Formats: sequence, structure tokens, C-alpha cells
Amino acid sequence: MRFDWSDHQRELFDAARQFGRERLSESFGDESGLRRAFSRLGEFGALGLTVSPRFGGMGLDALTSARTTEGLGEGARDLGVLFSGSAHLHACAAPIDRHGSDELRRRFLPRMCSGEWIGANAMTEPGAGSDVSTLETTARRDGDCYVLDGTKSYVTNGPQCDVVLVYATTEPSHGYLGVTAFVVERSTPGLVVGERFETMGLESSPIGSMYLDGCRVPVSQRLGAEGEGAAIFSESMHHERTGLMAAWCGAMTRQLDMVVEHARERRQFRRPIGKFQAVSHRIADMKLRLDAAQLLLYRACWARDQGEQASVEVSLAKLAISEAAIQSSMDAIRLFGGSGYVKEMGIEQMLRDAVPTAIFSGTSEIQRDLVAKGLGL
Ligand SMILES: Cc1cc2nc3c(=O)[nH]c(=O)nc-3n(C[C@H](O)[C@H](O)[C@H](O)COP(=O)(O)OP(=O)(O)OC[C@H]3O[C@@H](n4cnc5c(N)ncnc54)[C@H](O)[C@@H]3O)c2cc1C
Repeated sequence: MRFDWSDHQRELFDAARQFGRERLSESFGDESGLRRAFSRLGEFGALGLTVSPRFGGMGLDALTSARTTEGLGEGARDLGVLFSGSAHLHACAAPIDRHGSDELRRRFLPRMCSGEWIGANAMTEPGAGSDVSTLETTARRDGDCYVLDGTKSYVTNGPQCDVVLVYATTEPSHGYLGVTAFVVERSTPGLVVGERFETMGLESSPIGSMYLDGCRVPVSQRLGAEGEGAAIFSESMHHERTGLMAAWCGAMTRQLDMVVEHARERRQFRRPIGKFQAVSHRIADMKLRLDAAQLLLYRACWARDQGEQASVEVSLAKLAISEAAIQSSMDAIRLFGGSGYVKEMGIEQMLRDAVPTAIFSGTSEIQRDLVAKGLGL
């Protein structure tokens, strides 16, 4: 077993961290922020990390892609744009690359990798969150088109997307196995994008509902065969749970550095607060959580790169990263005292950006369920 990185992986990580510090250190929460951020992410190659080079991507394996995203997360202050960029990559561009025809790949991927087009994915519905076997959005075949009807909720990038991967049921009686995936352009008549939600964190990542009303999508824009949508979705979630979550490992590294520096410099009772065991042990626990989360992440990516499904490894990594990010962000606020509570310092933002990690790409409870299932329970 080897724990070192190749020169290529090291170079990419360093470049990503540097790029994050220099080009992603401002806030992208304004109206044009996401477009600005996407063109920068596109320049770096972050929007096509795992996409085939033939269509504008970098063709990286899961481990190298995750390590690069980790570098971006360590450098950048704004996790919202990394979340938006990674969702665009892992849940829209990559599935098109893996399952689309050459015509679909040529049409969408170069523009998605460059950041000209923003991608989204729409599975969740008002009545189907953790349980996506009960989709109410239907796709009915009509000649050389499918007609899509239904409502989707919590679509990341939805309010600003140019293309969205929509999951709908073509065979309601088959539940999860009746789900089919469609690549739908924003400009398609019958697709209406709802207002952006106000959210607790990830402020530069727009999220909202999406409405399909007699939306006609050509058969050529179906991804995979009828009934293959659930497998495509599940595969994209595997990639999100590692490739996207890597950004939070990077953010936790930056957070730990800030906390250590603060504990060395802040003096109370005539000594640095880091000299109090109650403080230093809290920081040691943050380090333990971070290293455990990183190692689980690298193992899951490595297993995926060996061709294993690695469902348990992936869920353990996602669970460890999200729960560590929430707990350590809470610890960071305590360690910074009153200044941790003040927005300007950027300490409390990490907690607001960490909370949604226990919900998206499958909640922490669902990850535990998947682990238990993998253990035969
Ligand atoms: C920031 C963010 C971005 C998102 N982006 C997207 C996106 O781009 N596209 C998309 O389609 N969706 C997206 N989602 C939606 C997300 O996938 C769902 O919110 C998530 O799957 C949970 O569904 P729900 O909100 O309906 O909660 P519910 O499924 O109603 O769950 C509520 C609670 O019940 C628990 N629960 C449910 N079932 C079980 C069970 N069997 N065992 C134990 N506990 C259970 C859950 O863990 C949770 O604690 C996003 C969500 C967030 C927060």
C-alpha cells in the first residue's frame, strides 16, 4: 500500500490550490457571479476534470480528480461555486459523456467544459426526496419525442442553467427501474425554471424548482435506454459523493490551519489559548476527523478506479466528510470565540456551507442505510 502522490497529482493539487486562492477568493453571490465563476473554473479545467479529452475534458481518474478538487477547496473561500461546478460536472456533464451518443457529447460537452454552458440535474420532487422510486414526473413517448410533465425541486444551478439532466418515469409501475434520463435544453418550450431559493449557505450556488408542462424532448436526447435512468443517477451520485465532497476536505484543511494559527496567537490568562488542553484537544479531534475523512475519500476513489462499485466505501467517505465538516465548523466557531460568530471573519460561513452536505447526494441517514445494506443487514 502506497500513500504518496504522483508528480502529476502533486502538480495538479498545487495548481488547483493556487488557482483557488488567486481566482476564487472573492464572493460570487451576485447575479452574474456564477457565470463569472464558471468561466474561471472552465479556464482551469475544473468543469471537465473527468470528461473525455476528445470533448474538452481532462480525462482524469476519480482519485486525481478528487485530489484536484480538494486543492480548489483548500484555496477557494467560496464553496458555493465549487459545489455548483462539481454538481455540473458529476451529475450532468459526466453522465452525458459516459452514456450519451457522440452527437450529444459533441453538442453539449465542449461548451460545458469551458464554462460557457451551465448544467444541472433534476431528480428530486416535492413527493420524492430520499425515496426516488416514486417519481411523479412522467415521460410519454409521442412519435420521435417524449412529452415530459411534472415538478422538480432543489435543482442546483437550476435558476441559471442552460441544460438539465431530467429524470422521469416512462413506466410508473416499475418504480425505480422505470426511470429514464433526458438531456433537456433550458430553451425547450414547456420547461419553466422557478425563482431562486434563499438558503442558509452555499450562497453563490443558485437552487430552485423546475416545472415541465408538455415539454417535448427528442428521442435522440434520451440518455441510455428506457429504464436505465436509475442506474445513471446512482452512478452519478457515486461520483458526487467523492469527487464533489473532496472540496470540503480542502476547506477543512484551511480551517484547521486558521484554527491552529489562532490558538497560537490569541492569548488569555497570560498564555496562548492553545496551551489549554481543552483547546488543544478540540483541535486534535479536528485533525483526527479530517485525516479519517481524507483517507476514506482516497480509498473510495482508488477502489472506483480499480473498477469496483465500492458502494460501502463511497458512502463511508461521504458520511465521514459531511459529518466532520459540520462538527469541525462548530468547533472552529467555539475556538474563535466571539470573532467566530462575526460574518466578516469567514469562520461561521464554513458551518453554513457544511450543513447542506448532510442532505444533498443522499442524506447521512441514507448513507448509513447503504453501509448497513452493504454489510448484509
Ligand atoms: C444544497 C442542496 C442541493 C441539492 N441539489 C439537488 C440537485 O441538484 N438535484 C436534485 O435532484 N436534488 C437536489 N437536492 C435535493 C436532495 O437530494 C434532497 O434534499 C435529499 O435527497 C433529501 O430529500 P428530502 O429533502 O425530500 O428529504 P426527505 O427524504 O423527506 O428526508 C427528511 C428526513 O428523513 C430522513 N429519512 C428519509 N428516509 C429515510 C430512511 N429510509 N431512513 C432513515 N431516515 C430517512 C432523511 O435522512 C432526512 O433526515 C439538493 C439538496 C440540497 C440541500
